[in-house]
Amino acid sequence: MTISLTLAKGREKSLIRRHPWVFSRAIEQINGTPEAGQTVDIYSHDGRWLAKAAYSPHSQIRARVWSFEKREIDTNFFVERISQAQLLREEVIQQGKLTGYRLIAAESDGLPGITIDRYDNYLVCQFLSAGADYQKTVIVDALRKCFPAINIYERSDVAIRKKEGLKPTTGLLHGNMPSDPVIIEENGIKISVDIVNGHKTGFYLDQRDSRYHAMKYVKDKEVLNCFSYTGGFGLYAAKGGAQRIINADVSQHALETAKLNAELNQFDTSKKRMVFLNADVFKLLREYRDQGTQFDVVIMDPPKFAESKAQLNGACRGYKDINMLAMQILKPGGTLLTYSCSGLMDQTLFQKIIADAALDAKRHVKFIERFGQAADHPVDSTYPEGFYLKGFACKVF
Ligand code: SAH
Repeated sequence: MTISLTLAKGREKSLIRRHPWVFSRAIEQINGTPEAGQTVDIYSHDGRWLAKAAYSPHSQIRARVWSFEKREIDTNFFVERISQAQLLREEVIQQGKLTGYRLIAAESDGLPGITIDRYDNYLVCQFLSAGADYQKTVIVDALRKCFPAINIYERSDVAIRKKEGLKPTTGLLHGNMPSDPVIIEENGIKISVDIVNGHKTGFYLDQRDSRYHAMKYVKDKEVLNCFSYTGGFGLYAAKGGAQRIINADVSQHALETAKLNAELNQFDTSKKRMVFLNADVFKLLREYRDQGTQFDVVIMDPPKFAESKAQLNGACRGYKDINMLAMQILKPGGTLLTYSCSGLMDQTLFQKIIADAALDAKRHVKFIERFGQAADHPVDSTYPEGFYLKGFACKVF
């Protein structure tokens, strides 16, 4: 007999709608003794076969579905899913001449707990769930079949693995370590990516479209790029002809890479054109406000403020605060480009927060553009949680 989980009565509804998660409270019985990450069959209370899933004994999400079809979860399965994901991205890759893109966006690509970003000839993987971790060598085999000349590096050094009973782990899975920083190109801009020590897998690919759209607001302008990381928006601002760009971040390593990136693109990095400022944005914005320093464009791309529902209220206050401060240091008619990558905050709530910030700042705001994650971060209709990044271009009067 295969190892399986039987759901409690009526608990099959979300799986019938093809949402890929099974919560612990939905399970009535475990048949057999599955190992962490092992593939199990899922049955409804009345004995209907529902799915093949990975068992996760330590997580509230007790199982994550690999397939709603009766099939082996083997190398071929992963080759199929990876090939489908690559195919979905081909148009975007070709149009943007991208050498850096998200290949696998976990649940949104039918591969729960697996994130894989491609940076030139490197694939950087995060295995975030017990199931993903259990299948690691099979996934590496599948990746090698799909991309024969590729190097594969693991960056599973993320806190979320704790919930799955997994330790952080990093290292080379196949091929060679990069001797120099890996350089990618997006929209004609070169970006060096530190796949070993950078944040997440090395770069924030999801903001590519927003960075591109930012270019039209910056010509001859004074730009403040808050939470700049390795330059991102600042590099696009330079390409878009900004007069001066201040990139602010708390990470010195990120700022050094940002400078390197500017040089890589032959942008003028003299202080009158580009500043790389090690500063806490929350303090910096207050200092600028108190000094009366003003900008034409403020870019506000903070890290995720809400990791859980319990943190959402605090996160709302944080977003309101920084956006209020940003408005206060904008010249009349200036542009605020503001984003939230907290999935728990939807676009309507984010818009409301900006509206509240405008009232507090005693400024008038018009929303002129809406943004989302780039096309290599798809959202599957069965998994709306996959839509997490949103942003606005606002005119501030
Ligand atoms: N806009 C970037 C991505 C930003 S990621 C891009 O397009 O690539 C968020 C950044 O915020 C990280 O680099 C992190 O170091 C920085 N950060 C976090 N808290 C900060 C704070 N209080 N002040 C300044 N930077 C901060």
